[in-house]
Parts: sequence; structure tokens; C-alpha cells
Amino acid sequence: MTLRALIEAEIAAHGPMPVSRYMELCLSHPRHGYYMRQQPFGAAGDFTTAPEISQMFGELVGLWLVHMWQVAGAPERFTLLELGPGRGTLMADILRAARLAPGFLDAAEVHLLESSPRLREVQRAALGDIRHIGRLADLPEAPVFAVANEFFDALPIRQFVKNDFGWQERLIGAGLQWQLGATTPRPDLDAAFPALETGRIVELNAAARALAGTLTRHIAAHGGAALVIDYGAFDGVGDTFQALRAHKKVDVFAEPGTADLTAHVRFKDLVQNGVAHGFTTQGAFLQALGIAARAEALNDATALHRLTDAAEMGELFKVLALVPPGTGEIAGFADGS
Ligand code: SAH
Repeated sequence: MTLRALIEAEIAAHGPMPVSRYMELCLSHPRHGYYMRQQPFGAAGDFTTAPEISQMFGELVGLWLVHMWQVAGAPERFTLLELGPGRGTLMADILRAARLAPGFLDAAEVHLLESSPRLREVQRAALGDIRHIGRLADLPEAPVFAVANEFFDALPIRQFVKNDFGWQERLIGAGLQWQLGATTPRPDLDAAFPALETGRIVELNAAARALAGTLTRHIAAHGGAALVIDYGAFDGVGDTFQALRAHKKVDVFAEPGTADLTAHVRFKDLVQNGVAHGFTTQGAFLQALGIAARAEALNDATALHRLTDAAEMGELFKVLALVPPGTGEIAGFADGS
């Protein structure tokens, strides 16, 4: 049975499904899910992420994490956490750059949050001495220094359309056709998207909010910092649900399970009470951390361009830092928050 047939059967049995259910099945179905079976990364895959473009990305992220650890008083034991590590390239570059910082690697316990058993194997082979966790609730009670690159965009979203009487959910019905659910009042959406025009689509990422909430409480209770890099905007609205195959956008309903499904990250939803934050573009962040000099040393103007230029990843990709309140100015976020 194909994943498409499984999805059609579920719709026939239970009615139209929210986008979130469709994303879950397409990305994480134990047998047919995209991350369970495809080789998504790199030139031969469906998309190329920043750490796969150049070692400079992970090195600078590593130096940022080392810096935040030093700002926190260089705790003797802490969790170095990555969410959604893919092939493990980013963490490998972080660990190599961090060798320059005395004490950091001795104090670090590397933890990876990864749902795909296949990618867990790839990460173990690339990184060696690491621990996988299935839920953030399993983090040790220690400061956490965390990074997530192109992770939050893969979490399942739901979509709602505003009308004059309330909100209707965008659902996926028989034949994988869009349809609208019943109109319901949604004070939470009214509050999150005030003064929005009728007919606009908004996206709700409950999983992203929950994970950011857990990270926030952990940083508030035990110290640490988190860096989230992804495409999106601070308070975006509109339909950003997309499918990518072989570096091209394709129909989100074409051959479910064979394309990467994502939505833009709404960073505002990741900023919750209990932490201070910094927000900037990937281009500005990497420039502030000195990528130009590193690119010159490595003689790699092409990677510099791809990572930082406004026409490439420099402006579409954003960087959010979550830090303990009272941290003051955050390295890499010269413009403030
Ligand atoms: N950070 C890597 C990979 C990004 S792809 C890079 O920059 O190259 C997204 C990663 O998140 C994959 O490793 C995928 O398996 C993982 N992932 C997706 N949804 C997840 C979830 N709900 N829980 C844990 N890991 C998840």
C-alpha cells in the first residue's frame, strides 16, 4: 500500500484531516515517512542546508555557543543539544571549533533530539559519543546550550482562514483536495492575529510552541541559551506550506512521502515568557561573527555568498536567540531584539 492510499483510507474513515496530520504522515510515517526513508540532504537530495554548504556555518555557531557558555560562567557540566541534526554535520563542525575553548568539551554532554531511527544511525556514525533523546522533557537538569537549524520548519502546522464570523480550518479531504471546516470562534487566533483582513490564511505550529516552551522553562530554571535558525519571519501571516523535491518546489499532494514538506517559521511564537531574545537575519548574524575573514582564510567566496547574500540565504533565513533574562547584548545580534 502506498502512503497516498493509507492517507485516503484514513480520510474515508475519519473525515478530512488537518494539514498537521498530513505532514506527520508524510514526514514521519514509520515505513513511508520522508525522514524515515529518503536521503534528503545535499546536492543529490532535495535540499541543501547551511551546514552542508560550508564548515564555516557550524564553526561560527560553535563559537557562539562557546561564548554563551563563557558568559554563563563556564558551567562544569552542561548539555550541548541539537534538535533535528540531519547528517550530524553541524554538530561535527561545532565540536571541532569548540576544541579551541579550554574546558568546553570536557564539560559538554552531547544530546540529540531526533525522531528518525535511520538518521540516528547516521548521526551516531558521524559523531560517536552522543546520546539521543526522544523528548525534550528527558533533558538532564543542567544548563542547556542548544541549536536547531532547519528543524522547526519540519514540524506540523495547522492552517486557518479568517471569515466575518470566525475561523475555518483548511482541511485535506477525499482525493487530496482542499476543503474548509466549519466556522468556529477562535479567540486565540483573534489575539495572535489582530486586525487581520477576512480571507487571509494563518498558520499555527503547536509543536513548535510546545518545544520552545520546554526550552524556555529549562533555560529559565537551569541556565543556558538556544539558537534557532530557519526560514520565516518574526510575525508572518499567509500560506507558506510547501513541498521540495530535488531542489524544486512541487505540489504538496504529489506522491506523499517523497518530498520534504515544510512551513515558514513564525519566530514570535517561539518567544515566550521567561527568557530574553535576539532576532536578526542569517546574513547579519554570520557577518557579525566574522564570517568574511573566515571565508577569506578558506578561500571560499562562493559559500560566503550563498550563506549571507540577500538574494541567497542571507535574508530569508533568520536567527533567534533565547537567553536568560538580564544577559544584556547578545553576540551576533548587534541590532538588538
Ligand atoms: N539540522 C540539519 C537537518 C535539518 S532536516 C541540517 O541543517 O542539515 C530536519 C531534521 O529534523 C532531520 O534530522 C529530521 O529527521 C528531524 N526531525 C524532523 N521532525 C522531527 C521531530 N518531530 N522530532 C525530532 N526530530 C525531527
